[in-house]
Amino acid sequence: MYPFEYHKAQSVEDAVAQVTRGDDGKFLAGGMTLIPTMKQRLASPDLLVDIGQLDSLNGIRKDGDTIVVGAMTTHATVERSPLVNAHLPGLAQLAAVIGDPQVRNRGTLGGSVANADPAADYPAAVLGLNASIVTDKRTIPAEAFFIDIFETALEEHEIITEIRFPIVKNSGYKKFPNPASHYPIVGVFIAVTDDETRVAVTGAAGFVFRCEEAEKRLAARFDAAALEDMKLSHEDFNEDIHATADYRAHLIAVMASRLVESMR
Ligand SMILES: Cc1cc2nc3c(=O)[nH]c(=O)nc-3n(C[C@H](O)[C@H](O)[C@H](O)COP(=O)(O)OP(=O)(O)OC[C@H]3O[C@@H](n4cnc5c(N)ncnc54)[C@H](O)[C@@H]3O)c2cc1C
Repeated sequence: MYPFEYHKAQSVEDAVAQVTRGDDGKFLAGGMTLIPTMKQRLASPDLLVDIGQLDSLNGIRKDGDTIVVGAMTTHATVERSPLVNAHLPGLAQLAAVIGDPQVRNRGTLGGSVANADPAADYPAAVLGLNASIVTDKRTIPAEAFFIDIFETALEEHEIITEIRFPIVKNSGYKKFPNPASHYPIVGVFIAVTDDETRVAVTGAAGFVFRCEEAEKRLAARFDAAALEDMKLSHEDFNEDIHATADYRAHLIAVMASRLVESMR
């Protein structure tokens, strides 16, 4: 290991003030991505500011017609939350299939969303539910948050404090997981409101996106049969040892159909 400074933050203000002291200071949340990245020398921050003890970033509450999840809330807490299960079953389903129990007990919503891994599960719920990402500086709508592979609208040293998920009429999530890591090769989140059906896809491309073709078909008829002959253009999709772009396009239709079937 190479030397770096470690600071345990006392408050959000303290975390932000401290992290700017380093040449490459980083917030440490669950450490499920940052620590392996450091071990592989893909990142070498000179300062880690641990936000894990900050109660103000932890927990789940209902605020009118919104479920508010603190950035430091673990995937396991989201999975088991009675509030999330009652109002946003899709979000609970998604949290339940992230990684393995160890990852779910350490990994956090804020860490996952800030990291913006193109194969992460949470971005699908954030975009599908049209959530708002609240930071120490501002509120960023989901549509403006995910920019590219591992790139978000967050500025340097901007900290996510909570994410606000509007309650919708129905929601669900299904993914085709990589059998080793459990990251989605393709993951599909569907949210149904009074006005629209939103379909967000993760894992298929460089960043999460809405599948307009599926949305159009499901708005006309919320039935798996409506997706049967759906053929998506896949020129921008990921190609790797796990799946071709064409196979990922096929998986979107399959996962979306299965999900619709389970939501009816
Ligand atoms: C074996 C394994 C399997 C996994 N499988 C899956 C999977 O199936 N699906 C999936 O989606 N994920 C998976 N993950 C990732 C995991 O779910 C974590 O969510 C993810 O690693 C990041 O969360 P964290 O809390 O650990 O963040 P950290 O690793 O602590 O931080 C990640 C990055 O986000 C920044 N950051 C953290 N919190 C904040 C904040 N509040 N504001 C601003 N920046 C912040 C950090 O500075 C760092 O750059 C897996 C991880 C492992 C190790």
